[in-house]
Amino acid sequence: MTFYLGTHQPAWLARDLGVPLLVSHRRLAGRASLPRATGPWACDSGGFTELSLHGRWRTTELAPELPIIPVLQGQSISDYHRCADLYEKHGIDLAALLLVGVGSVCRRQHTIEVEHIVRSLAARNLRLHTFGAKILGLSRFADVIASSDSASWSRRGRYVPGCSPSHATESNCPRFALDWYSRLPTSPTDEPGQHSARPEGSRRATMGAPRGGATQRRAA
Ligand SMILES: [Zn+2]
Repeated sequence: MTFYLGTHQPAWLARDLGVPLLVSHRRLAGRASLPRATGPWACDSGGFTELSLHGRWRTTELAPELPIIPVLQGQSISDYHRCADLYEKHGIDLAALLLVGVGSVCRRQHTIEVEHIVRSLAARNLRLHTFGAKILGLSRFADVIASSDSASWSRRGRYVPGCSPSHATESNCPRFALDWYSRLPTSPTDEPGQHSARPEGSRRATMGAPRGGATQRRAA
């Protein structure tokens, strides 16, 4: 599976860090100019609900060249499946899509509940991206997801003294982030310390999008 390193620093897109990045649109909106990405990356649109705003799925009209992914939201397992049913009702064949996002999992405390949700959605033959999944959870269901992301390194970094005079803490430090990334376990059988979170070749990591382009956009 592919793991996107969440960052608040859009400038990292141009720094060739060697890992796929996930940047929120809130960090990109309002900038006079945008960095040119040197590697695969994804943009989180911030969680607006395309279906509730517009009553239909318009992505092919908005930007047919971008692989924009729908996102399933909910609290309970049945909520997530109702959300998936809603897409299907609007004519979106989720199983035919390159990727389907699973939202809200970052706020959940119960890892086992998240695992049940993710596994039940995977049973619908969906290729899943779990937004902001906890690392503990990731190790339980990495075998059934295509990709995930996290910026939890940054929250931890707030409490770590900076590595240089220019870093008060490590909350925005690329070295700290990459060190964290390199130790991610991504499958139930992985031991911490293995580097299996790295994408399996650039083709997989870019998910069919051109290098430097937006690889996916969260639209629901
Ligand atoms: Zn640092």
